[in-house]
Amino acid sequence: MTADRAPAVFCTIVPPHVLDKMSGSADAGVSGAARRTLEQDALQRTRRRLTTVIGATGVTGAAASDRPVRTIHDAKHQDALPGRKVRGEGDKAAEDASVNRAYDALGATFETYLKAYARHSIDDAGLPLVASVHYLQDYNNAFWNGQQMVFGDGDGRIFLDFTLPLDVIGHELTHGVTQYSANLDYFGQSGALNESVSDVFGSLIKQFTLGQSAEQADWLIGAGLLAPGVNGHALRSMKAPGTAYDDPDLGTDPQPGTMTGYVSTSRDNGGVHINSGIPNHAFYLLAAELGGNAWEQAGQIWYDTLTGGTLSPHAQFADFAAATAAAAKARYGEGDQYRAVLASWSQVGVTPAAPSPDSAGLPRQQPGQPQEA
Ligand SMILES: [Zn+2]
Repeated sequence: MTADRAPAVFCTIVPPHVLDKMSGSADAGVSGAARRTLEQDALQRTRRRLTTVIGATGVTGAAASDRPVRTIHDAKHQDALPGRKVRGEGDKAAEDASVNRAYDALGATFETYLKAYARHSIDDAGLPLVASVHYLQDYNNAFWNGQQMVFGDGDGRIFLDFTLPLDVIGHELTHGVTQYSANLDYFGQSGALNESVSDVFGSLIKQFTLGQSAEQADWLIGAGLLAPGVNGHALRSMKAPGTAYDDPDLGTDPQPGTMTGYVSTSRDNGGVHINSGIPNHAFYLLAAELGGNAWEQAGQIWYDTLTGGTLSPHAQFADFAAATAAAAKARYGEGDQYRAVLASWSQVGVTPAAPSPDSAGLPRQQPGQPQEA
């Protein structure tokens, strides 16, 4: 599967249900910024549909370098991307903290994939990493558009600068990794798996960079992103889905941690940012059970599953669970790791699909016209 033919995911880190809630706020400052962000996101999604995605070219025919190739641009609060180049690879730090955070986070993501999984950038062929900061005015989001990262400054009322949380940047860049590997269909359960894989590696990139064990990690996505005064500590919690925030302007974190709470909805591509809580929690349970550094065994099993070539783009939770069990067995045998994988899925209420020639090729769930913001 090459990125040239695959439609890239347009994922914004703040999902539409959060911005919907904010746009109904009695505070005109909060609702206005949320509405403008929703409008811009809808515009971006339309552009993504109308434009053939040609991934930037990585290094071909030669071994990819162990060094990243980063370029950071300043969108200067405008719509045009990428904006003016402000820092290239190896350039000294800029005056602008957002520029430097984006540069460092791209580097941390590159380094984690390289050192933990021997992967050379997003496409495993040395793809240059491009980002733009200061996108639009009070823009409450960040996204990977199939070719580059884009960061808003936040409205300062609910959200702060989106370059602040490393896991958010790792999450978005991992959509690129998925785009170049399993290419999970961005709808329903396969879409929730796509989202979950981004949360898993987003968190692992932060843990690897900070040198945190599974026990020390916060297992939050977007810690440090919510402005002071907002009642919440992040966008999502892998350890305790559904507890990340509970705020009059943001609403209540709707994520379930088990299949009992599975949400059927046509919004957000079939609840991809909601039901991702279930595989997120399965990964957390596995990492907690295995102990030590989560990017080592637990992360390796998930990485093998994502990149192993056996996962269907239309995989459902049960297929993904079976694939993780197979990956654990292939790498570590039928020992503790394999048993822990099965136990973690069991705890979230997912029974791995029986291995059969069909299990990797379930009929495609027809998304129709996904409803988006
Ligand atoms: Zn995402």
